[in-house]
Amino acid sequence: MTTIGSPNHMNIHSLRNALTQLEKEGSGLGHFNVADLVLLKAVIAAATDTGFPVLVGASEGEREFFGTRQLAAVVKSLREETGLPVFLNADHTHSLQKAVEAAHAGFDSVGVDFSAFPFEQNVAHTKEVVQAIKAVNPAIVAEGEIGDIGTGSEIKETAQGDFKKLTTPEEARQFVDATGIDVLAPAVGNMHGMLKSMVQGKAKKHLDLERIAQIKQAAGIFLTLHGGSGTDDEHFRKAVAAGINIIHINTELRVAWRRSLGESLVRDPNEVVPYKVLLPVVDSVKQVVTSRLRLFHGELDAVGSVA
Ligand SMILES: [Zn+2]
Repeated sequence: MTTIGSPNHMNIHSLRNALTQLEKEGSGLGHFNVADLVLLKAVIAAATDTGFPVLVGASEGEREFFGTRQLAAVVKSLREETGLPVFLNADHTHSLQKAVEAAHAGFDSVGVDFSAFPFEQNVAHTKEVVQAIKAVNPAIVAEGEIGDIGTGSEIKETAQGDFKKLTTPEEARQFVDATGIDVLAPAVGNMHGMLKSMVQGKAKKHLDLERIAQIKQAAGIFLTLHGGSGTDDEHFRKAVAAGINIIHINTELRVAWRRSLGESLVRDPNEVVPYKVLLPVVDSVKQVVTSRLRLFHGELDAVGSVA
């Protein structure tokens, strides 16, 4: 059997093919958010070292900071230079205009997010945006979201939102049939951001694995897990086995970024050369991405990435 780290995988140049291939192998595709070149370099370095495909993600805020077209151009350039299966997702897109902008810029997928709306409105808005982005690029991968898993990849005092209310298989089936999405992001015990106890490594998120399997069967399409940071390692592996195809990690990267930047600045107060200050930050974030990629591909068991 081919393993994902083998040179054969260098031939995967569509996100859809990568998802199909990984599903066959029982692996999950790591989705890592970037807001600047430091984070992007870290993700690419981890992909280069491991040989695994990666899905680079950027939310509306992250795209605004980096520049939507600029990010697409840099990722395209890195993909060409490395020959690696590196894909780009417009994460949590809340408007038709921003979705179409990302499609025109060349993003491989758009995460259409109207999950804050009541179900029927979510269906109507999602369907409209899916049709619009597929008119720009028929090969684009469209993701839709249902359920409340909170917002913001940040450190939180307490869990916000109604994240205990899980997506039902029936809702999932209806939503997929009505919207024409390719990927569904359900609420299955996941949550955006991390509690302080999770950052300290004292607590972990746990997923409803049985519900994931039921939703997979009802939806019949690829599934994305948002808010993966701080999830129990064993649950990640079992979630992939139950039908999760893409796993989002953002807060863990941000925590590593912030910590290592702080340490780097303190280490030498007279250092003013940006790349000397920032290189250790790239390395710290890269270590988190690498350990998560290895876990999603069944190469590692327990790794406390941010402890
Ligand atoms: Zn998310």
